[in-house]
Amino acid sequence: MELGLNGKAALVGGASKGIGRAVALGLAREGCRVAICARDRERLEATADELRSATGAEVVAIPCDMAQPADIQRFVAATVEAFGRLDVVVNNAGGPPPGSFESHDDAAWAQALSQNLLSVVRTVREALPHLRAAGGGRIINITSVAVKEPIPGLILSNAARLGVVGLAKTLSRELGPDGITVNNVCPGLTLTDRMREIYGGQAQAEGRSLDEALDRAAQSIPLGRLAQPEDVAALVVFLASEPARHITGTTVQVDGGSTAAVM
Ligand code: NAD
Repeated sequence: MELGLNGKAALVGGASKGIGRAVALGLAREGCRVAICARDRERLEATADELRSATGAEVVAIPCDMAQPADIQRFVAATVEAFGRLDVVVNNAGGPPPGSFESHDDAAWAQALSQNLLSVVRTVREALPHLRAAGGGRIINITSVAVKEPIPGLILSNAARLGVVGLAKTLSRELGPDGITVNNVCPGLTLTDRMREIYGGQAQAEGRSLDEALDRAAQSIPLGRLAQPEDVAALVVFLASEPARHITGTTVQVDGGSTAAVM
């Protein structure tokens, strides 16, 4: 299938590793010029080098904290300065820390909402004039299967990400006339550092090894395996593509069938 992404300009948040990195790689392989961000400049530059040598694509690395409005302004502005246009926005950042309701104070809520909900608001606000100038575009938000079935012990994530879903649905209707699509991609258990951290902590508490804990997690998935970051990236790349032009306002999981809810 011809994806029509060659020469398009894309911006991917939280992309020095994990799902964001895999998305940036997938887009670069399809001929996109890609801007990536993360807070750690050294790690980000190393990832940009890897993506350039793997794909030959133009990749720019822009250090940015997605919880900081001024950083987001710089990220979008630097992307447009580098590529002269913007077609695809992939909103992604690290997930909030685990914990129960009573373990989080107001500062933790403010940080989670800033990093995982307001980051989307702010990025879209900065990107919109450029997407319109390009004659249309794609906004894709990386959320979580938590938006279909809240995950015990991840209350910050469960709450912030449903805000993204409500935002995206509303935006999809407001921005449809501009030819801009807005969709949410929901990873299930995906083998990245975030998952190793969460499962590592649980495994230690239960006196198991990380590998044992990951094997048990894989057994809970109908397809019998954890997702690799590229499994999530494949859907993001498709939603960014020209053939996906009539898909908007959707929230789709990539979870090996683990979500029990129908919708
Ligand atoms: P990860 O920790 O492996 O990678 C996160 C990336 O984002 C890194 O490059 C990190 O440097 C960057 N980052 C973190 N905070 C940032 C910030 N404030 N500003 C800019 N960059 C930042 O995580 P991942 O597993 O790839 O997860 C990506 C997103 O998907 C997260 O929001 C996560 O909660 C969500 N998710 C992951 C899984 C999973 O199983 N891995 C499941 C559901 C949802």
